Amino acid sequence: GVTYTELRRPCRTMILVNPHSGRGQALQLFTGHIRAMLTEASVPYTLVITEHQNHARELVRNADLTQWDALVIMSGDGLLFEVINGLMEREDWQQAIQTPLGMLPGGSGNALAASIHHYSQSPPAWNEELLLSCGFMLCKGLVGPLDLVSVHLASSQRLFSFLSLAWGFVADVDIESEKYRHVGAIRFLMGTLVRLASLRVYQGRLAYLPAKEVPKPPNERVKATRPPFTPQQPSLCSSLPCHLVPRASPKQSSLKNCVDTNLNQNSITNSSSVITNIRPGTQGNNKTASPTDSLLPSLDQPVPENWTVVNEEDFVLVLAIYQSHLAEDLWTVPGAMADDGLIHLFYVTAGISRPALLRLFLAMERGSHLACGCPHLVYEKVRALRLEPVSQQGMITVDGEVVEYGPIQAQVHPRMARLICG
Ligand code: ADP
Ligand code: MG
Repeated sequence: GVTYTELRRPCRTMILVNPHSGRGQALQLFTGHIRAMLTEASVPYTLVITEHQNHARELVRNADLTQWDALVIMSGDGLLFEVINGLMEREDWQQAIQTPLGMLPGGSGNALAASIHHYSQSPPAWNEELLLSCGFMLCKGLVGPLDLVSVHLASSQRLFSFLSLAWGFVADVDIESEKYRHVGAIRFLMGTLVRLASLRVYQGRLAYLPAKEVPKPPNERVKATRPPFTPQQPSLCSSLPCHLVPRASPKQSSLKNCVDTNLNQNSITNSSSVITNIRPGTQGNNKTASPTDSLLPSLDQPVPENWTVVNEEDFVLVLAIYQSHLAEDLWTVPGAMADDGLIHLFYVTAGISRPALLRLFLAMERGSHLACGCPHLVYEKVRALRLEPVSQQGMITVDGEVVEYGPIQAQVHPRMARLICG
């Protein structure tokens, strides 16, 4: 079963904020909803406001990690992607990637936050309520394992991914909808409707290594070793929505009780500090000792015989996902766990009608798309996969970020990282 450990106390936390993520309100959301909670729970933190893309990646690649007990992202999934890759680029990646990682949803794509919330067996939550739930998990400080997926690109670049690899419809919607970032998570629905109007087929070859042995059902594993929760800050707990607090009084308090709406940076520095210009140091930056991908031949070699080669070569989408949620309101993989050791591979073949595709995405809100009986939708649990696009034009995303377009392959590394959850 899953063994949750507890964060060291006091937990010295670095919180990385992307001020431009989502509607550009991540810092205000932090100050308004999270700051007081952390202060009350005596979590000492340093707020780091990123100044440009890859700032966080450079920072964690060179940071002295002995100073930190947790790295927390207040942004969308894109900033965690930077942090994980920064950690994996270090010479000491094996210890570095063991640093507990936390997620506070402040972006427009908050798939991991929605997934962690879902794994905690709480009823669905969105927006500020999801943020509060994640803030509360950070205060509780339980840490569980997180699978990572190693991704190889044609240029022999290698990336580490915690969420998804997408090609076709899903990748196009994700990137095209970034221009609607100011509307928040609903950008994916808007992007889906726009993309449906110009639905296209993507040609390519897909192959995968099926996961033959499926681990025990997730529920058994969660309940097995979760340590009992003892509220240490009763005043904080009593001000949270009751479903966030195990065995709490059924009376649901107003969310306003635990919200501090004064955006006053000086008061952040009372208990903690704000840093906006950490300079990268000089350690790390050596890739000699990275993990080996034993399941993957090189990209110019054929796939091994025990792989399945998909017959169809005309797709509407290919999506490999390793968390339950693709977005706050897209429950893509009902049975997924952060550490199930699986890549959940979905593909939709050409010939699906626009209404049928829309129905799939609408059903995904309730996680019922697999029950739609759609003959164009295929779902396989795999450990590795390879995708070779033939169409000249298209987009591939990893964790919602655009990567080089071309042949790509990936394999799962069970429990490589650690995640604040539960
Ligand atoms: P969202 O969910 O709103 O897309 P993300 O966390 O995914 O939010 O961030 C979007 C992109 O912004 C990512 O590619 C990330 O690397 C990048 N980024 C991070 N910090 C900054 C910054 N200070 N300025 C501009 N871009 C940034
Ligand atoms: Mg993003």
